[in-house]
Amino acid sequence: MAVKTVSMKSVTILGSTGSIGVSTVDLLAAAPERFRVLALVGNSNAARLAAQARRLNAEWAVCADAAQHADLQAALAGTATRVECGPDAVLAAARLGADYTMAAITGVAGLASTLAAAEGGRTVALANKEALVSAGDVMLRAVAAAGATLLPVDSEHNAIFQAKAGNPERGVEKITLTASGGPFRLATHEEMERAAPEAALRHPVWSMGAKISIDSATLFNKGLEVIEAARLFGLTSAQIDVLVHPQSIVHGMVHFSDGSILAQLGAPDMRIPIAHTLGWPERLLTHAPRLDLAQARTLEFLPPDEAKFPALRLARQALQDGAGAPTILNAANEVAVASFLARRIGFLDIASMVASVLDRMGRRPADTLEQVLALDEEARRCAEAMELSRAA
Ligand code: NAD
Ligand code: MG
Repeated sequence: MAVKTVSMKSVTILGSTGSIGVSTVDLLAAAPERFRVLALVGNSNAARLAAQARRLNAEWAVCADAAQHADLQAALAGTATRVECGPDAVLAAARLGADYTMAAITGVAGLASTLAAAEGGRTVALANKEALVSAGDVMLRAVAAAGATLLPVDSEHNAIFQAKAGNPERGVEKITLTASGGPFRLATHEEMERAAPEAALRHPVWSMGAKISIDSATLFNKGLEVIEAARLFGLTSAQIDVLVHPQSIVHGMVHFSDGSILAQLGAPDMRIPIAHTLGWPERLLTHAPRLDLAQARTLEFLPPDEAKFPALRLARQALQDGAGAPTILNAANEVAVASFLARRIGFLDIASMVASVLDRMGRRPADTLEQVLALDEEARRCAEAMELSRAA
């Protein structure tokens, strides 16, 4: 028994009540002999968080929303789980020193806690791409300074990480990220112009949180992923291809200098890349569906339509412009997605709002955390003001 305890990995999940968080909880629950749960962090779903904490015997349960304190405390009465609420408690949970932290809070809201976890110098499994897009240099510097390990959870980036493993860095010519194409791959301009949130949320392959589902419909998700890949793998925009692959079976490919291409394949189920990061450098046993290629039969690959989906072009431009451009792009997109979900703007307004905010704000530095946070805030205010002036 004592030997087992020594080899156990301690785990914290930032964003445990969301789509990625729930999949992570399922994997942990299936291997209680390998993992000890330090903290589960959510925002306002106290009931779900409490059920997860009971199931995994978590040491801490934390809601970012301080108003949930009484409900969370009541739901965990009689357990040994410590209940904490509020933004400072989120940071404290991220600093408990877990061997493995799943960073799965959506958006820049998850930046501070992801950074706090990285500063602990252990393993951070990164689902929160917005934090890396917005604060790329700051985050990579924090990871390097603390000697932390950053493992990509995003299925495409996890695929690239796996396909690159064991190969010399200088042999990589370029990579390909695949995209499902989202719910509007075959839609007309008029259909997209009139699209309601319900239609945009209906992803053909993946079941995910609302923000990333809308990003998949606009293709901003793929744009953010191009920037994410540039940061994670030290590549230029020209070295990162995107191909629409409606079956979502091949998640990413690495093209080597000798003409070889290595790809990672798997059923479109996020438990697979999450399990890769949880087990790494070992492999876990999961009950995720096994891929049957004879059943799949057809694998299609098509170039993305950048005229119909300008998000990809905007993200590549922001990556090339560098400095604060990705921070502005991400913040404007977060505001535009929330406005679309609240039915205040149309679907096609999302990309045009992001383009206008980028134009209006011009070139800005984003070298320090303070600069990133100030720029993020200013870009949000600029986007909100633009929305108000459109409505007027
Ligand atoms: P989600 O909306 O389902 O879950 C988000 C989680 O973050 C929830 O637990 C929520 O309570 C928590 N949260 C939100 N705001 C918070 C705050 N201010 N403080 C603390 N917690 C807060 O989102 P998701 O689909 O699980 O995505 C999470 C992240 O992973 C996103 O960055 C997304 O881009 C990325 N990702 C998701 C998928 C997927 O399949 N869902 C795939 C690849 C990458
Ligand atoms: Mg992805």
